[in-house]
Amino acid sequence: MSGNISRKALFGGGWHGRPSTVRPPWTPSESDFTDRCTGCGECVPACPQKIIVKGRAGYPQVDFSRGACDFCGACADACPESLFAGRDSEPWNVKARVGADCLSTCGVTCRVCAEWCDARAIRFRLEVGGRANPEISDAACTGCGECVAVCPANAIAMEENE
Ligand code: SF4
Ligand code: SF4
Ligand code: SF4
Repeated sequence: MSGNISRKALFGGGWHGRPSTVRPPWTPSESDFTDRCTGCGECVPACPQKIIVKGRAGYPQVDFSRGACDFCGACADACPESLFAGRDSEPWNVKARVGADCLSTCGVTCRVCAEWCDARAIRFRLEVGGRANPEISDAACTGCGECVAVCPANAIAMEENE
């Protein structure tokens, strides 16, 4: 092990930013969503990945610490409201973001996120001192969230891309 790395980073340091609440795929903007979603919760048990949970005020949100979205559309099929857009449209504009606790950024060899990314959206830029900074291509990232739970430093969060 090399570099100046905190115990917190090694043992579950976590994301230090303010990750946005991510609603299920194919849902409208936040204000439109909370206007039209009744909070019935039908989408929660419908998700085979078990990544939809009831969040604040009972509205469903995606918890990527539980797993990844495979865009199966079961949440959309389960919704009794006309809330979800057609499956032929882009599911969302959610992208992965790497925080400061990334082991590789701190000089500890780790490529776990890239190994799990089917979209090959993560590349590493080598720096002096043995560090390698992960860079995520927004164009390639599908927002699946596969990289979140596998990161040993809990350094990845999913955010709406502005
Ligand atoms: S598309 Fe499928 S995996 Fe993704 S949140 Fe909806 S039900 Fe879950
Ligand atoms: S999985 Fe990726 S983001 Fe997490 S510590 Fe390893 S290189 Fe950094
Ligand atoms: S969210 Fe999915 S596509 Fe994006 S970087 Fe992570 S694993 Fe790759």
